Amino acid sequence: MIPAASGREFGEGSRPRPTIVRGEGAYLWDAAGRRYVDLGATHGAGSLGACHPAVVAAIREQSGRLIHVGTGCANPVRTEFLERLLGLLPARFARVFLSNSGTEAVEAALKIARSVTGRPKIVAARRAFHGRTFGALSATWRRELREPFEPLVPEFVHVPFNEPAALAAAVDERTAAVLVEPVQGEGGVHVATPEFLHAARRETERVGALLAFDEVQTGLGRTGRLFAFEHTGVVPDLLVLAKSLAGGVPIGATVTTAEVEARFRGSHHSTFGGNPLACAAGLAALDVLVRERLADRAARLGAVAAARWPSLAPEKVREVRGLGLMWGIELRERSAPALAALEADGYLAIPAGSTVVRLLPPLVIDETDWTAGLEAVARAVRHG
Ligand SMILES: *Cc1c(COP(=O)(O)O)cnc(C)c1O
Repeated sequence: MIPAASGREFGEGSRPRPTIVRGEGAYLWDAAGRRYVDLGATHGAGSLGACHPAVVAAIREQSGRLIHVGTGCANPVRTEFLERLLGLLPARFARVFLSNSGTEAVEAALKIARSVTGRPKIVAARRAFHGRTFGALSATWRRELREPFEPLVPEFVHVPFNEPAALAAAVDERTAAVLVEPVQGEGGVHVATPEFLHAARRETERVGALLAFDEVQTGLGRTGRLFAFEHTGVVPDLLVLAKSLAGGVPIGATVTTAEVEARFRGSHHSTFGGNPLACAAGLAALDVLVRERLADRAARLGAVAAARWPSLAPEKVREVRGLGLMWGIELRERSAPALAALEADGYLAIPAGSTVVRLLPPLVIDETDWTAGLEAVARAVRHG
């Protein structure tokens, strides 16, 4: 393997990893010309695969026209992108704040919730991951991620995931928002029950708080529906998107209603948020998502995986969880050896915590590559 360590990336450590120089669809190539199948290397941002031709063409075209202008000026590409995005959502969603990452989009949701309700408290779930800036990190659960940076933002509480009664007990007149991932990603791939999401909707309505869904990882087809909230029909007041939204270009979006916007006090802004380059990529990505029916594809290929899991080494596997093309295989041991075995076999997957092998393949992955990938996962889990 070509040595990957540059020694210059903050926090890089000495962990060996492949050097990726090129991509096409679900394939990534390293510097030595070795091909890998991406089962998660793009951390869910690569739903369209690497370098989707429509996204590449849009970036080429837009970069020659206008790369950046701030939101102090209107821009037709931004307008068209927002219309296209809102056109995929229930009619109540009518306003979008654009930023550059998932954590920024969460941060905006938190600020909006506090501002419009005039209340401090945010209720999140145990095992949640919402990002790593101070606000988003305060909503994130894992102690190792939080502790070195304390004190965090006050008034964040975490309730057990999928326990409606605990959620109901935590939501009160001081609550600004309940923030939840419909499928927890970084936390190990845990699917929210309909009861939990319905309780979140009911309890926020009871006290006049907002319901925020973090669909940074689950959004845009990943779970087999365009948005994971469609599985239960529970519609939030704030919808947070990022990762795959612009086909691999950095972007974040916080989507809400005109009523929420009307109650917002203060200001929130981002220099690069809504830049035409990201919006052009986003517009192309949304077109591809719809035209290639990628949500349906995720559902179909997800069913292929679901049929495969029961025969997966029970002596090694504690549980397999997921929806669409978002899977977590929880092992009875650490997942690092299985991930290394997969890499040696030409497949790049990612962990979620220390014992979960997480699969977030591009939704465009060939069915043969996906089934071969599932075989490789089975081998890696058995012998890794
Ligand atoms: C990845 C992720 C984030 C953070 O997004 P970044 O773009 O890394 O800042 C937030 N929430 C969820 C659910 C995520 O999966």
